[in-house]
Amino acid sequence: MSTRQAKNDSTPKIGARNTRQRSAVVDVLKEIDRFASAQSIHRELTDRGQKVGLTTVYRTLQTLTEVGAVDALNSDTGETLYRHCLTDRHHHHLVCTSCGRSEEIDGGPVEEWAKQTAEKFGFELSGHDAEIFGICQNCKQSV
Ligand SMILES: [Zn+2]
Ligand SMILES: [Zn+2]
Ligand SMILES: [Zn+2]
Repeated sequence: MSTRQAKNDSTPKIGARNTRQRSAVVDVLKEIDRFASAQSIHRELTDRGQKVGLTTVYRTLQTLTEVGAVDALNSDTGETLYRHCLTDRHHHHLVCTSCGRSEEIDGGPVEEWAKQTAEKFGFELSGHDAEIFGICQNCKQSV
């Protein structure tokens, strides 16, 4: 059994009490439609009159990431950013570090490389991560 599976098995079921907070967080993510930090998601919720604590936002985002409803990535500044992705399919991101807008992209050769590298070292592959960061065209023009 892979560690990833074991982790999922031990994930507690999301209680009905948390459902409202969870859908509030998902709604905000869908509307923002770009990578955002837990803090800015929390700020957005507060602006909408939703009484959700920052700790709850963090926990909710973590749960959503674990079940695959939300994508999380570490920005080049070390901050964790979240986004509700348009596709359930495995994909990667091209992220603008200025506005947080992102393109969903194919892993291309990364997929094969990850598989082969794991095999070479006798690892059972459980996942891989590869995001590309840059400045989008809009942001480049407004400088
Ligand atoms: Zn995505
Ligand atoms: Zn941008
Ligand atoms: Zn990939």
